[in-house]
Amino acid sequence: MKSVPITVAHGDGIGPEIMGATLLILKAAGARLGIETIEIGEKVYLGGNTTGIAASSWESLRRTKVFLKAPITTPQGGGYKSLNVTTRKALGLYANVRPCVAYNPFVKTKHPGMDIVIVRENEEDLYAGIEYRLSTNVMECLKLISKPGCEKITRYAFEYARLHNRKKVTCFTKDNIMKMTDGLFHKTFDEVAAEYPDIEKEHWIVDIGAAKMADTPEVFDVIVMPNLYGDILSDVAAQIAGSVGIAGSANIGLQCAMFEAIHGSAPRRAGQNLANPSGLLLGAVLMLIHIGQPDVAELVHNAWLKTIEDGVHTYDIYREDISKQKVGTKEFAEAVAARVGQKPQQLKPVHYAAAAEPPKAVALMPQEPSELVGIDVYVEWASGDPMTLGPLVAQANGDGLELNMMSNRGVKVWPDGMQETFCTDSFRCRFQGADATHPKILALLARVHGLGIEVVKTEYLRNYGGQPGFSLAQGQ
Ligand code: NAD
Repeated sequence: MKSVPITVAHGDGIGPEIMGATLLILKAAGARLGIETIEIGEKVYLGGNTTGIAASSWESLRRTKVFLKAPITTPQGGGYKSLNVTTRKALGLYANVRPCVAYNPFVKTKHPGMDIVIVRENEEDLYAGIEYRLSTNVMECLKLISKPGCEKITRYAFEYARLHNRKKVTCFTKDNIMKMTDGLFHKTFDEVAAEYPDIEKEHWIVDIGAAKMADTPEVFDVIVMPNLYGDILSDVAAQIAGSVGIAGSANIGLQCAMFEAIHGSAPRRAGQNLANPSGLLLGAVLMLIHIGQPDVAELVHNAWLKTIEDGVHTYDIYREDISKQKVGTKEFAEAVAARVGQKPQQLKPVHYAAAAEPPKAVALMPQEPSELVGIDVYVEWASGDPMTLGPLVAQANGDGLELNMMSNRGVKVWPDGMQETFCTDSFRCRFQGADATHPKILALLARVHGLGIEVVKTEYLRNYGGQPGFSLAQGQ
């Protein structure tokens, strides 16, 4: 059968050893791969390329569209960009998938029955990295959530569940507070879920959901969530399953995909034949399913389970009472390769029948008409006293636009604020009125400026289909 071209990077630290081990096992299982090797990471960074990846390597990635990547070391000090973030964003890898499974009793865990998959949104949320300084005392980070972003990731979670015969998809958000951003994620989840009647769906507020996951992970199956919650909770899930050292992950895009271990380059363990290659190997299993070789994925995964069950363990999971043989990276790989074709007896064998469906593109929503109804003007006011600022800013009223509220970090402080509310030096002044137009707003800004007030930024207030496209202040 035809081999599938993939791009491989051996990485830094323990990277070359665990990649060598992984490729040895893939070869023994008959993986049909045409490997192109690229150099990324420390050497490239220190050679003067601040992105850690050369232009010619991008060519390989864009040609093969499949990337098996060992961990890299990001040099200390400023100026070096995270290669992981660059790769995910540049290649549009919107879904980060992390199976977190307990291998009780062979790998120590507090949750013997745990078998969950975290599907983390990878492109949006607070990770857009858009930040501003609003005043001497206040910083801002924008949380961006899009309809196509929510649809792609929630649909991916349901498609994943269907392909892997999973029964339930749970969504975690904080939409009781962030009604517009997390609210959109939750609403889209519900809409997409309706197309998958064969799969159970539920939603948890992320705080209590996270507590439940850390306490009783057995009640979850697939969990889908926005970027920040997913970043934090996928590490928690991998750790409580047994070890972050044995989890692999997939980063899936509409065109390209990247597969890796979730741990780093562990420089202190490098070059000693100590590292556990399991995380990268299980990442490679996800890759084999993705490229249409589920038969090989099954052979590799079951051989690995049998090795773990036979007590052949690297130092990080070795325990006197349960392990039989302490081995190095190379010997572990040889033990797995020797078990290709075998299935575990106590651990549940895996069965991969079908190749992953390519992810589906989603369209932007058709443009909805909107109506301008006012503007939020952010100002810096050093005294932090709303009682002097309010009447002063109100002098800028005119053309039907009136100051109807001021807030400080989201809490209404004028009019009728509470003296107990702590105020910083950054205030939001909300002007609203019928027949708002751009020229009227520009004239308003000029009047605010003319009052000697420092305008820092503005946000236009719009209604969409008669519904406000902005939130009310707390207490408004
Ligand atoms: P790390 O994951 O490399 O190591 C954390 C601990 O886990 C160490 O004690 C290490 O010895 C152990 N460990 C990790 N993987 C192991 C394995 N396969 N077998 C046995 N033990 C293992 O995290 P760190 O020390 O915070 O980071 C080291 C470097 O890795 C940094 O330069 C960091 O930027 C980089 N990093 C890279 C990636 C990536 O490329 N995907 C991810 C995380 C960190």
